[in-house]
Amino acid sequence: MSSVGLHKSDLDDLAVTLKGVCGRVERDVMLAPFTWFRVGGPADIFANPQTEDELAALLSAIPENVPTTVLGVGSNVIIRDGGIRGVVIRLGRGFAAIDCDRETHEVTAGAAALDARVAQGAVKAGIAGLEFLRGIPGSIGGALTMNAGAYENDMSNQLVKAFGIDYSGKRHEFSPAELGYSYRHSNPPLPVIWTGALLRGTAGDGAQITARMDKIMAAREDSQPIRERTGGSTFKNPDLAESKGKKAWQLIDAAQCRGLRIRGAMVSTQHCNFLINTGDATAADLEELGETVRARVKEQSGVSLHWEIKRIGDAAIEGEG
Ligand SMILES: Cc1cc2nc3c(=O)[nH]c(=O)nc-3n(C[C@H](O)[C@H](O)[C@H](O)COP(=O)(O)OP(=O)(O)OC[C@H]3O[C@@H](n4cnc5c(N)ncnc54)[C@H](O)[C@@H]3O)c2cc1C
Repeated sequence: MSSVGLHKSDLDDLAVTLKGVCGRVERDVMLAPFTWFRVGGPADIFANPQTEDELAALLSAIPENVPTTVLGVGSNVIIRDGGIRGVVIRLGRGFAAIDCDRETHEVTAGAAALDARVAQGAVKAGIAGLEFLRGIPGSIGGALTMNAGAYENDMSNQLVKAFGIDYSGKRHEFSPAELGYSYRHSNPPLPVIWTGALLRGTAGDGAQITARMDKIMAAREDSQPIRERTGGSTFKNPDLAESKGKKAWQLIDAAQCRGLRIRGAMVSTQHCNFLINTGDATAADLEELGETVRARVKEQSGVSLHWEIKRIGDAAIEGEG
């Protein structure tokens, strides 16, 4: 029996039912390949809807007692080694469309569209203001949830409307004011799976926007381990009054955690707010390393760091992981 009280046969039956409304449904799918860290155990049921109708039908067919989790492209998550109980949804290519309007400077993007592609689409249409998305390796769905941002801009500034479907299958749209946005955080009025966003920029000169994006990419290349198995910034920057003006990486550095290792997990030497899977780390190794960093920072500076990376799923059962 699984941790949510579902027997294997219940899950088998549910998978058959869900397959009836959403073609791509599989049992026991390993999730590590769907994350940047390349760690994580299996999803009991993995669904990959291709259209809004399929997603709505899928959500309304999942019984209330079955937990449902949505993944973007896994650039901000540690999925634990025991995997995720219930249904994991990853939106398919049908949600990746990007449409840029040169007249209104608006961009409509599906939740599975990659942030970088949205930025590139905008520049081609002479739309400025979305360059910050160029270096964020996530999807629009993840960006809406995380209020993704960089270089003094974030989603909340550019968003006109976010479109989503709730867990009963009903469609909604929200303005940014309704989404309770703060630094790398959103608080929608009800749990939804984002299906897309309407963003608005301003008129811009293509060459100038490209130059700004090139600068952003060069700065990232220099300062972040963007080719490693990582999850981006591990901890949110603390309230600067509390940390005496120090950012998370400065506190981590002062606590001498740069390069710290626990088995295959390592604090990046290039940017010490990034954790890295050097090859054979488990989710437990990464989480233990993160908690060790938090404890050392607390001891050294008195500041409590808070995880920006979402940690989801169950720990491996001893002896099985
Ligand atoms: C090298 C590197 C650099 C990074 N730099 C930045 C940066 O500069 N700025 C920044 O903000 N982030 C950065 N990140 C973190 C990450 O890219 C962002 O948080 C991104 O927005 C996550 O998107 P994702 O699609 O990967 O979401 P995931 O990691 O898959 O999920 C993140 C959260 O969003 C939720 N979610 C995903 N899709 C949906 C959906 N359709 N509906 C509802 N919820 C959804 C998930 O349930 C989860 O809670 C970086 C990461 C890496 C690896």
